[in-house]
Amino acid sequence: MNGKLLIFSAPSGSGKTTIVKRLLGQIPELEFSISACSRPKREGEVNGRDYHFLSVDEFKKRIENDEFVEWEEVYPGSFYGTLKSEVERIWQKGHHVVFDVDVKGGLNIKRLYGQRALAIFVMPPSIEELQKRLELRGTETPETLAKRVGKAREEMGYTKDYDLVIVNDNLDKAVAETMETVQRFIQQP
Ligand code: ADP
Ligand code: 5GP
Repeated sequence: MNGKLLIFSAPSGSGKTTIVKRLLGQIPELEFSISACSRPKREGEVNGRDYHFLSVDEFKKRIENDEFVEWEEVYPGSFYGTLKSEVERIWQKGHHVVFDVDVKGGLNIKRLYGQRALAIFVMPPSIEELQKRLELRGTETPETLAKRVGKAREEMGYTKDYDLVIVNDNLDKAVAETMETVQRFIQQP
């Protein structure tokens, strides 16, 4: 079987992680690509499950060793990247790879893999709602919140390059819509 790639991008706070987790729970052939990143671990996150947490030095060493499919400095000083070994590991099991990456990373993966990849953009209903969700999530300082909201405005300009845009207003509806498109895509030869 030919492994496919499902790329999810969204401004931080749109609900992408929530949607992706639901999807992974319902379609057993899907497997999450665990990215490497250099930001500090959030409460509840586990190294090797949510991310491979690396120091900036270690991350840069891996860039030099050509270990990434793609990588970005998503926020100043915070590096994130998709490891080649992750994609290989998941395909070897006969699974499809699910990516949670920023807009630039997502479009780079799409360019690399073409028809094998489906790129989905999760939109918040509005910037105000996005900010509210981030505040309620309780993971941000005023500085990181401002950075994320600023970046969100920029990222929302890239939706035209995505195969599908899902507005996450009602979560159940957004999940159902995503599920239907993903099922159809992975069933294609
Ligand atoms: P992202 O991965 O895009 O940063 P999360 O999945 O962490 O976003 O969601 C951000 C916050 O918004 C979380 O606290 C989540 O529970 C909440 N959330 C997700 N979808 C909705 C929705 N449709 N309506 C209201 N809150 C939502
Ligand atoms: P967070 O810090 O909220 O977990 O993630 C911040 C941003 O980094 C999100 O937009 C997320 O999609 C992105 N990201 C996570 N992993 C990768 C990756 O491997 N590559 C790229 N380019 N972005 C990533």
